[in-house]
Amino acid sequence: MRFSARMGGVRRSYIREILKVTQNPEIISFAGGLPSPDHFPAQAMARAAAEVLADNGPQALQYATTEGHPPLREFISRRYKATWGLDIPAENILITTGSQQGLDLMAKVMLDVGDAVLMERPGYLGAIQAFSLFGAAFSTADLGPRGVDLDQLEERLRERPKIFYAVPSFQNPSGATYDAATRRDAARLLENSDTILLEDNPYGELRFKGEDVPPVRAFLDQERCALMGSFSKIASPGLRIGWITAAPELMHKLVTAKQASDLHTSSLAQRILYRFLETNDLDAHIAVIRQAYGERRDCMVEAIRRHFPEEARTTEPEGGMFLWGTLPAGTDSEEVFAKAIERKVAFVPGRPFFVDGTDNAFRLNFSNSTPERIEEGIKRMGQCLKEVMAR
Ligand code: PMP
Repeated sequence: MRFSARMGGVRRSYIREILKVTQNPEIISFAGGLPSPDHFPAQAMARAAAEVLADNGPQALQYATTEGHPPLREFISRRYKATWGLDIPAENILITTGSQQGLDLMAKVMLDVGDAVLMERPGYLGAIQAFSLFGAAFSTADLGPRGVDLDQLEERLRERPKIFYAVPSFQNPSGATYDAATRRDAARLLENSDTILLEDNPYGELRFKGEDVPPVRAFLDQERCALMGSFSKIASPGLRIGWITAAPELMHKLVTAKQASDLHTSSLAQRILYRFLETNDLDAHIAVIRQAYGERRDCMVEAIRRHFPEEARTTEPEGGMFLWGTLPAGTDSEEVFAKAIERKVAFVPGRPFFVDGTDNAFRLNFSNSTPERIEEGIKRMGQCLKEVMAR
């Protein structure tokens, strides 16, 4: 086949490949980035769907505008104001088919082959993949316990990347969060650059410990930042509804690119979601998710203390869905993974999250397993770690 050169350098998502292995229900999987299905609002969504089809069936089944369902855009705008005091008018919000589409659209409108994109290290795999398709040249700034390394950020911004892609709250894969000072300082560095911040915030509302911190966007001029959000982790990923906010000039380009991609995000899904939001208390629903994820995280941290060798260092995130582990240099997490699959437990080896091949890290998801399975899975994984590290 005469495939495009563009596809040549792009690998299939390693995690999506791993997920195929972990479909087997006997395997305790900490691999996926899956929200807890026990907390999907299935019944409320069923009612919302029935009402939408009964009351507005023809409109819900018809083509719709590219920008998205107006009341849903208004809802998101009001929520930014109420939560953070942020003024983001509905006209500057584009509904996307998951926030993953926001990455694709940003790559399309911003990048020529060879253009520089600054990523966090480690970084979100889906973004590496989306930007790779458009020939991005990556540079990285390390993530530490307080967020991005500001010295490295300053240095890399001098190289004038077109985009700095960041997940400042409960990042995928590391679970790391920028503290308030790091957000302000990062914003100041960005103000003095000509790089646009692409801030991705799908996990920000899933905080179960510590103080809430506003998005970095709150400290920046609207021209300097495109902020993305998603209903995937606070309502349902199957709906495929996210959004991107942008100043008018960028918004215009994104809308044009989306027209060519998919005309618009499912109008049926948008209307069902909006009816759900109108007739249910989203904050109360998020509170239930936070509580459950907090318990699962505590359970995993506790089990790790009992079962992992001390040299395996792991983080204790204050929110989100992931915990991050680092093994002593020379211990390859892919070797641990091979053993773990034999023992019917799975996680994600860290290598794909690095553009430089670092191999001694791993990601654990705690949102998608019950406490009983977390205890058993961590115990099995601890045995594998001990065996590999004893060599
Ligand atoms: N960004 C990040 C950081 C993510 O972890 C994910 C989900 N894995 C996405 C974007 C995509 O989410 P969605 O398209 O479901 O909104």
